Amino acid sequence: MTDRTLVDRLLRTRGSAVISAYLGLPNDPTEQRGVPIRLEEQLYQAGIDPRAAPALRRDADTIRDAVAGLYDTLRNGVALFVSGEIGLFEQVWLPRIVPDRVIVGQRPYVRPLLATQQRCPRYCAVVTDHQHSTLLIASADGLWESDHLVSPGVRKPNFAGWYGLAEYTVRNRAEGLVRRHHRHTVEAVENALRRNGCELVVVGGSRHSVAEFRTVLPRHLRERLAGSFTTNPRVATPAEVRRDADEVVDRWNRERQRRLLDDIRAHAGTDAARVVSGLTGCLSAVNERAVDLLVVRTHDTAPGVVCDNCDLLAFEERTCAICGTENRPVPDVYEEMVVAVLDSGGTVEQVDSDAPVPGHPVARLRFPVPAGG
Ligand SMILES: [Zn+2]
Repeated sequence: MTDRTLVDRLLRTRGSAVISAYLGLPNDPTEQRGVPIRLEEQLYQAGIDPRAAPALRRDADTIRDAVAGLYDTLRNGVALFVSGEIGLFEQVWLPRIVPDRVIVGQRPYVRPLLATQQRCPRYCAVVTDHQHSTLLIASADGLWESDHLVSPGVRKPNFAGWYGLAEYTVRNRAEGLVRRHHRHTVEAVENALRRNGCELVVVGGSRHSVAEFRTVLPRHLRERLAGSFTTNPRVATPAEVRRDADEVVDRWNRERQRRLLDDIRAHAGTDAARVVSGLTGCLSAVNERAVDLLVVRTHDTAPGVVCDNCDLLAFEERTCAICGTENRPVPDVYEEMVVAVLDSGGTVEQVDSDAPVPGHPVARLRFPVPAGG
C-alpha cells in the first residue's frame, strides 16, 4: 500500500470511537523501557481509564499488545489506529520521532502522519554510472532494491590500425552505449515510481555520471527530481545512499516550503483579499470551502467544536450557528481544518514551529470570503 492510499483510507474511516496513538520509539534499549509508561500516560490523558467504555478499554489493550510486540523492530516512531467496532487496526512506521499523543475521535487523527509523510516522502534513489544502475526505494518502512541494471560495456580495441580512427570509433560506440544505458535506466525509474507510488527521484553517482544522466531525464521526471548527490556507486552501502538521499530530500522540502511561503507573501501584497491569517479568519475560510492552501505549524493544536450535521467548525459555541444542532467538542480544531481542506480539494502544508510563516495559521484562498463571516 502506498503512503497516499493509506491516508486516503484513514480519511474515509469513521467510527464512534477510534483511537489514534503516536509514540516515539527510542533506538536506545535503556530508553525503550519507558515506552509502556509513556503510552499509559497518553491513554490516561485521552480519557481511557478504568471508567471508560468497555469497547474503548479493549481497543487500548490492542494498542498495548501491539506496542509490546514492537521491541525487536524499534524504529523512530509508530502510529496505531484502532477501533474494534469497525475492524480497524492499522500500524504505520514513522521515519521521524513525533511527540507522543493519543486521541479518541470519530475518525483517525492524521495530522502527525501527514506531516511526516510530507517531510519524508517515499522516493526512488538511482545510483548510476555509465554501465550500472541501482534503484532503491526509500520509505518509512525501510529501503529496498527495486531494480538493478547492467548494460554491456565497450571492449578495448585490440586491432592494429590508425590509432586516431580506432579511438574515434570506439568512443562513438561507447557514447552510444552509455546513452542507451541511461535510457534503460530512465525506463526502470518510470516503472519503479509507478509500482511503488513514489513521488520523488534522487540521483547519485560521480559528478560526471549524474550530470550525464540528468540530460536524458524526460520533463515529467525532471519535475520530480529532488536533487542529486555525489557518491562512488561501487563502494557506497545502501545505508550511505539513504543518508545522502535523505539530505537531498530534506533540502528539497525546505526549498519547497520557502517558495510556498514566498508565494503567500506575494499574494498578501498584491491580492490581499485572497490571503487570511489567524485562526478565526482561517476557520471562516475553511467553512466556506474557500481554502486552496492551508499552512499550519506542525505542533500547534487548539480545542474546538464541530457540527456533525453541516460540518461547520467553530471555537467553542455550544450549538451550530447554521442549523442549531449541538456541537461536538474536538481536541484539535486544526485537525478538522486540515481534513476539511483536503476534502474540498485544497492542499495543506505543515511547517516547523520556527518557519517564517506570514501569520498563523495562514491560508491562500480560491476566492475572497467575508472577514469573520
Ligand atoms: Zn450545523
